[in-house]
Amino acid sequence: MTFAAQILTLYPEMFPGPLGQSLAGRALSEGRWSCDTIQIRDFATDKHRSVDDTPAGGGAGMVLKPDVVAAAVDHAITRQPDAPILAMTPRGRPLTQERVRELAAGPGVTILCGRFEGFDERLFEARPIEPVSIGDYVLSGGETAAIVLLDACIRLLPGVMGAASSGDEESFESGLLEYPHYTRPVEWEGRTIPEVLRSGDHAKIAAWRKQRAEEDTRLRRPDLWERHSGARDQSPSGAQRKKKDR
Ligand code: SAM
Repeated sequence: MTFAAQILTLYPEMFPGPLGQSLAGRALSEGRWSCDTIQIRDFATDKHRSVDDTPAGGGAGMVLKPDVVAAAVDHAITRQPDAPILAMTPRGRPLTQERVRELAAGPGVTILCGRFEGFDERLFEARPIEPVSIGDYVLSGGETAAIVLLDACIRLLPGVMGAASSGDEESFESGLLEYPHYTRPVEWEGRTIPEVLRSGDHAKIAAWRKQRAEEDTRLRRPDLWERHSGARDQSPSGAQRKKKDR
C-alpha cells in the first residue's frame, strides 16, 4: 500500500524538497509513498487571488482566510477521504513518536501548511482538522514542519528502513531517550569507547545501555523521565516494587 501525502500549501515547489533525497527519496521512487501538493491560492475567489486578510481586532500580520482554506481542504477530502487532516501550527498538540507511528500505519495524511499569522480559528470548528506542533518555537511557514512530520512517518513505512532496523529501540519508543552510540576508532582524542561495549558480553551491554538510557533521560529530559517513572510505578510490577522499597 502506498502512503499518500497530500500537502496544502502556498509553496508547492517546496515539495518533496529534502524528502526527495536519501531514504525518503528512495522510498518515493519505489512507490512506498506518494507526494501531491494542492495550491491553496487556486481556491481564492477574487480577481487578486487573495488568500489572507487583516486580523480581526487589529495587530500585525495577516491571517489565512477560512473560506479559501476550507475550499482547498474540501477538495483534498474528495481526493483522499480517509486520510487524517493535520494543520501545522505552534498552537497544536506537540507531535510525538506515538502519533507518528499511528499516522504511518494509516493510508496517508493531508497536511495544511500555514503562513503569515496562521489560520482563522473557525476552520478548526468547521472541519475535522487536527492541529499539530513540531515544537515550542516559531517557524516562518508550515512547509518545513510538514517535511519534519512526513520524514518521521516515511522512515517507519514497511521496507523503508529494512528489516535490520525497525526503529523499535530508538528514542521515545519506550518513553526514554536512546542510549549513546560509539564507533571506531577505539581511541579518539584521548577518549576511549566504554570498556563494556568492547567486552562481547551481551547481557552486560544490554544492562549498560538500559542504565545510560535512564540516566540520560533523567538528566536531559526530566519531563519524559517523570512520565516514564510515573507509568512504571502505576503498573502492577511497579506497585509491587514500591511496596518492597518501603
Ligand atoms: N502567529 C502564529 C503563532 O504565534 O502561533 C505563528 C505563525 S508562523 C509565523 C506561520 C506558520 O508556520 C504557522 O501557521 C504554521 O503553519 C507554521 N509553524 C510555525 N511554527 C510551527 C511549529 N512550531 N509547529 C508547526 N507549525 C509551525
